[in-house]
Amino acid sequence: MRRRKNKKNPMKTMLFTAPSGAGKTTVVQHLLEEYPDILGFSVSATTREKRPNERGGKDYYFLSKEDFKKKIEAGEFVEWEEVYKDQFYGTLKSEIERLWKKGKVVVFDIDVKGARNIKDFYGDNCLAVFIAPPSFEVLEQRLKKRGTESQISFKKRIARVKKEMEYRDTFDKVLINDFLPETFREAEKIVENFLCLNEEE
Ligand code: ADP
Ligand code: 5GP
Repeated sequence: MRRRKNKKNPMKTMLFTAPSGAGKTTVVQHLLEEYPDILGFSVSATTREKRPNERGGKDYYFLSKEDFKKKIEAGEFVEWEEVYKDQFYGTLKSEIERLWKKGKVVVFDIDVKGARNIKDFYGDNCLAVFIAPPSFEVLEQRLKKRGTESQISFKKRIARVKKEMEYRDTFDKVLINDFLPETFREAEKIVENFLCLNEEE
């Protein structure tokens, strides 16, 4: 773990996007543990059901569809998407403000369309990283092994993968998630370079 303050990077953001099962959550969790004083996770709002290992306010703000729609109408989201049919996900403006007030670089774990919107909005102040699985078969195996999805949800996710992979080269970096320790090392390098963490004060 590296205990360093974020002095040089006010109002920066980093986003990690990928097809479901490619390893976004794994990589983002590692980076948050590695740079706890620098990075802050943008907790998204969603209408999907909570998984047994998840906590409201930490993994997501779990909202009813009615509440989510009220927030859309009130203009409370920076971006939102119906990622799967009847399952809404979105980034609240208040969440970004909360993290910037604490001096954190905001880290997003977000679907490819939302990621494009965030990247277009923040431009050079945002580094956008696409996490790619080594192959479609490996992604399928990982998603099965994670064991979090019903048969229907699994099929919905797999059906989207091809479309999501088409976005791969529209982001700043592609990180291939094969051997995990290597992925973590590469991800750390990406953070250190973008935030100039190794430069003299
Ligand atoms: P995402 O957030 O993109 O949906 P996850 O981070 O949940 O993906 O990863 C999907 C599953 O694959 C999890 O069970 C995770 O532990 C596993 N996983 C992630 N990266 C690797 C890797 N490099 N090698 C093997 N398993 C991995
Ligand atoms: P999951 O249900 O597996 O947690 O997430 C499903 C998909 O929704 C993932 O691709 C995840 O990155 C994406 N997602 C999570 N939060 C947001 C968000 O705030 N906005 C958008 N557009 N997608 C999100």
